[in-house]
Amino acid sequence: MGAGQLGRMTALAAARLGYRCHVFSPEPRSPAAQVAEAAVVASYDDKAALARFADGVDVVTFEFENIPHRSVKLLSDLISTRPRWECLRISQDRLDEKDFVNALGVATARYRRVDDADALASAVESLGHPCVLKTRRMGYDGKGQVLIEDGADPVACWAEMGADAGIVEQFVPFEREISVIVARTADGMTAAYDPVENRHLAHVLDTTIAPAGIDDALRKQALAIAERLVAALELVGLLAIEMFVTRDGRLLVNELAPRPHNSGHWTIDACATSQFEQLVRAVCDLPLGSTERHFDAVMRNLLGTAADDWHAILAEPGARLHLYGKDELRPGRKMGHMTRLYRKDSIGAAAGPADTNTQT
Ligand code: AMP
Repeated sequence: MGAGQLGRMTALAAARLGYRCHVFSPEPRSPAAQVAEAAVVASYDDKAALARFADGVDVVTFEFENIPHRSVKLLSDLISTRPRWECLRISQDRLDEKDFVNALGVATARYRRVDDADALASAVESLGHPCVLKTRRMGYDGKGQVLIEDGADPVACWAEMGADAGIVEQFVPFEREISVIVARTADGMTAAYDPVENRHLAHVLDTTIAPAGIDDALRKQALAIAERLVAALELVGLLAIEMFVTRDGRLLVNELAPRPHNSGHWTIDACATSQFEQLVRAVCDLPLGSTERHFDAVMRNLLGTAADDWHAILAEPGARLHLYGKDELRPGRKMGHMTRLYRKDSIGAAAGPADTNTQT
């Protein structure tokens, strides 16, 4: 379900294991449809199309955050659907997600539910400035977010957010942002990738650095949080957890994504098993692969015209290029990514690119 670049890279990984993928999305000629055996082009709430889709496959997974969870629930009455639809429901709603995380004793930024400008005014008063107003649903890559600074007018901020349900949270003056991707099988086996550092520009992921330059204690804590959340969600598939590292060295969970994640693209070129193959393994009841990191890596998203540099990227030793086959170039659109590989454990030591010819 969903047929963007995450679906495309999942279908490519599945094909390598001999599977044929069908994709479902409203978009014709989508990145995933180009590499899939079949594509159903229909609206996500088209029940007849969902039934037709379920008829043609053995297991369903999703790559897109904002598929109506009711459609995924409907599919799960017809066919094995992994992760289960409740995982999608929780991660689609920032309030439910934060309540879920906190109920497990895992920390997030302090937050309040807000349903109108009055509620926003009193929430901001109790949380203090600055804070961030976010839509509860349908938000990603910073869409629907408003930074509220001292003296801001709650009525104007509420209008700017443009939704009728929101959450306001303390602005975290983080030292860095990290993420962990963990896979889990139906019988509860898990495998996590090294925590990575993510740098954003204008709320959109720009660069992922693998591994994150954090100390071992923090690394273990981040992995423990990932294990705890994936088990509590009883999730079969992949879970990505975005976290802030605060300046006093604490971890706060920001967001969950029950699907492959942009901060895991480096695993295609640098790890024994990519996040995409791992997803296929998890949902097809295969043994999970090793998450061992063969290289350190820096992944950069190619947004908009940045993808026009493909010729130079291909000419660069140690760089790997991935383009998504999108028809239309729009400013800021994720057109592809590149991964630069470095010798393992060399990042931070300002080392040059690894000699990738040694990769088998
Ligand atoms: P989100 O859509 O919640 O993942 O937010 C996108 C990006 O906005 C995050 O990766 C952060 O860089 C920034 N951001 C979101 N929430 C906060 C917060 N409470 N404090 C500081 N930065 C934030």
